[in-house]
Amino acid sequence: MNRRIAHLHARQILDSRGRPTVEVELITQGGCYGRASVPSGASTGRHEACELRDVSDARFQGHGVYHAVRHVKEPIARAVIGLDVFDQKAIDARLIECDGSANKSRLGSNALLGVSLAASRAAAEHAKQPLYRYLGGLSSILPIPFINIINGGCHASNDLDFQEFMIVPVGAADFFEAMRQSCEVFYALASLLSADGLSTSVGDEGGFAPQISSVTKVFDYLCQAVQKAGYRLADDFCFAVDVAATELYGDGHYEFENKKLSSEEMVNTLTGLARQYPICSIEDGLAEDDWSGFTSLVSSVPTHTQVVGDDLIVTQTSRLLKAARSQAVTTALIKPNQVGTLTETLDCIHTAHAHGLKTMISHRSGETEDHFIADLSVAVGSGQIKTGSLSRSERTAKYNQLIRIAEELKDSAVYGFPAEV
Ligand code: PGA
Ligand code: ZN
Repeated sequence: MNRRIAHLHARQILDSRGRPTVEVELITQGGCYGRASVPSGASTGRHEACELRDVSDARFQGHGVYHAVRHVKEPIARAVIGLDVFDQKAIDARLIECDGSANKSRLGSNALLGVSLAASRAAAEHAKQPLYRYLGGLSSILPIPFINIINGGCHASNDLDFQEFMIVPVGAADFFEAMRQSCEVFYALASLLSADGLSTSVGDEGGFAPQISSVTKVFDYLCQAVQKAGYRLADDFCFAVDVAATELYGDGHYEFENKKLSSEEMVNTLTGLARQYPICSIEDGLAEDDWSGFTSLVSSVPTHTQVVGDDLIVTQTSRLLKAARSQAVTTALIKPNQVGTLTETLDCIHTAHAHGLKTMISHRSGETEDHFIADLSVAVGSGQIKTGSLSRSERTAKYNQLIRIAEELKDSAVYGFPAEV
């Protein structure tokens, strides 16, 4: 059968922070080809699958992935060569079995994910279909982009405690208009910051990283930028934040703007912000194991504000089910490298939808030019994607792929959140 995997190759390439990462190439007996590269987080959750780095190797200051690359070329190649690329589940099951550990620490989730994604690309080529079609059939929902235009937390060297401030073009008629309007707000924000003598250099995800330390001051700038660009708050643009609160938590309290806050006070702070500004989404408002804090946030924010779990769920179906049971989130953030295979990623997404939760497909702060997640977001009809700002090519690569997909889908494309679940 010519769909069988004939050859696997891996190499170390560089991500957007100049750190090594894994790239995999896969060829089938019939000559179909798939290539994929793996992103990497900075504010990673404790419960994520293990990204293997050569920590005791001085090269690249311990960030090398020589071992993960070798694992693809040797044990993983031996295990998957001969498998049918149309059988993604069997490939991923073999990868998991070959690793054998609970958190993919033996061979590395970075090694596994590269192979898993490359296999699906080769399969799409065999099926003579674009990736989003191969993975998703007739799904044609273009996601609303959550565009991170101010960077803080551990993605920038300013003093902002929240990691990401996003604009969300909720009023756009289609994906093209969403991009155009968002770019106009991005330019308006640049001119407002410069006029006030603030820096317009960018952080890890391409958003501006001005020396501002107050969260409300950022929201005030965002409101001004939307209006300066000629748009209406709430009707055309909402805001979203990723607090990345795991990074603010320690010794039983949250440290926010030089104050020590309990979980309850954190919930009150976030709820206050959601009432003051048009905030439609709060991600990781609490730390990764603060289940009761999440549940209380869901019940206290306005109903139009979704509560998104990133470090809380880490794209693992078991944690997602716990979140669904305890009503700790309304939306699951989905990052394929948090779990390590495509099958497990899809399982987490489908389980979320089956439990009435939404999903948002996400990049990582360390990215490559691979735009797999753009296709994934359309394939699963998540209706939401976050993939950084409107600068830095590793971020715009995903938006540009969505522009291509929107063009291909023409009138059948639907822009926005999926039908209410
Ligand atoms: P990370 O940030 O990739 O550094 O984890 C993204 C996020 O927290 O959503
Ligand atoms: Zn996050």
